[in-house]
Amino acid sequence: MARKRGGFAKTAPKTLERRIIENAKRIREDLSVILPTAMDERSKRIMEKIENKLIRVWKCRDDLKVLEKLSMKRGLEGALAGTLTLAITEKAPYLAHLKVGERTIPFAVRGKSDRDKLASLQHFDDPIVRLLAFRDIAFKKKLSFYSWEDNFICCSSRNPVPEDFVEFLSRLLGLRRKGKILECDHLKREYLWIRVKDLEIRRCRSCLPDENTLLNISKYFIDPSLDKHVDIGIESKLLDYGVSLRYREDYLKGTIDDWRFFEENLRMWRNELRGRKEKLIYLDGEIISAQDLLEKLGVDDIEKKALEILLSKVDEPIFVDKPDLNSLLRIYWKEYGLDVLEGLSGKRELAKRIYERNGEPLRQIRDLEASIIRMETLSRYPVPKLKSSTARFVDKMFREYLIGGKERLLSTLSKPPQEVKSRSIAYAFLLALGKGEERKWQYRKEEIELGEFLVRYVKDLLESKPEDYPSKLKELLAVAGIDEDVT
Ligand SMILES: [Zn+2]
Repeated sequence: MARKRGGFAKTAPKTLERRIIENAKRIREDLSVILPTAMDERSKRIMEKIENKLIRVWKCRDDLKVLEKLSMKRGLEGALAGTLTLAITEKAPYLAHLKVGERTIPFAVRGKSDRDKLASLQHFDDPIVRLLAFRDIAFKKKLSFYSWEDNFICCSSRNPVPEDFVEFLSRLLGLRRKGKILECDHLKREYLWIRVKDLEIRRCRSCLPDENTLLNISKYFIDPSLDKHVDIGIESKLLDYGVSLRYREDYLKGTIDDWRFFEENLRMWRNELRGRKEKLIYLDGEIISAQDLLEKLGVDDIEKKALEILLSKVDEPIFVDKPDLNSLLRIYWKEYGLDVLEGLSGKRELAKRIYERNGEPLRQIRDLEASIIRMETLSRYPVPKLKSSTARFVDKMFREYLIGGKERLLSTLSKPPQEVKSRSIAYAFLLALGKGEERKWQYRKEEIELGEFLVRYVKDLLESKPEDYPSKLKELLAVAGIDEDVT
């Protein structure tokens, strides 16, 4: 078994052998099956000459001896002669292999012609492989070849991309066609574009494949001046800020895919604009004003105020991938969260109590809002001058409740007071909040009994309106046996 460039010749499975021989027979019957249709005068003239040379070989199609001699020639004629011998011998027990992109193409080595031309002719029914036979002609004669499905055409390389080929690419890529533009259905301000001559392919960020589209489509054509005819770029408002496009060469070489080309550029641009402290808001491919951002986020009053405070603090570009307030706040919460809470409440201490560096920003804003509302409520209740320590204890517990609700009062009551009457009232508070059973063990029997009697007065007190508060307090104290003049 002879060792060949790029692999060993292997024993051919019967189906492969049969297919290659069938193809050789079809060429023997009709030479035109391997020939592209020339689309313009220049390519017609060139192809006619090539065809004439091939016809001279093809005319010897029944003479094995002559074909074998002709197959010693290099180039397309030699490959045709070699392939035609297969139609006579009807045998190809050993096949060599040619790597075409990701695929491995089996073919029979006959004569001395180029391997890619032999493989190409033996697979003339494969739109990608059949192009290989015409590669050097394309470069030498400046012709473009397009090959897809049952179509195989050529034209001068200066010609625009053929309409039918654009139609095919539209189907291949699943993109809508608008003249010579192929695009996805979601195009807005920002998109990736790939140009091949007068053809432009556009995709939005979310439609970018993790494949190199140019590499994928260039399997279906040969353009001898491809490097001059192709380009890739990104349409983006960020380019107005003087950032530059990178990774173009890597993309054109095929080493990075569409998605990475886009994301890497965007990442570089962000870093560059951050470094320059450029003030801008980027949302989903658009540069928008602070006002637009507020509208797009659909925020309520306090959220709006929080965002305004944040925007006044941040002195770098803001990049938002999706219009969601919490994710935006989260980016800057460590740095500016406390300032936002302080700005909202006007109270540094309150802000400090609520602020959590790693917590959810929106929840903290909601907590702050609730505290502000409670403090406003608190300020509406009169502050009586009280003599007895029990009275002052009750008043303090009531205010804890107004500021921090049930949770805060329960936490304050976790340690029972010292003084006897206060202890009974403390237990009554626990009962009113539904935590009596749980904390019963902290109290003595007589404290519990008095507490159970006082609970209804405590409930009244907790529900009292500002104007009723002094009288409800007085009533509770009186029942507990304390005569206090609440004014
Ligand atoms: Zn899209």
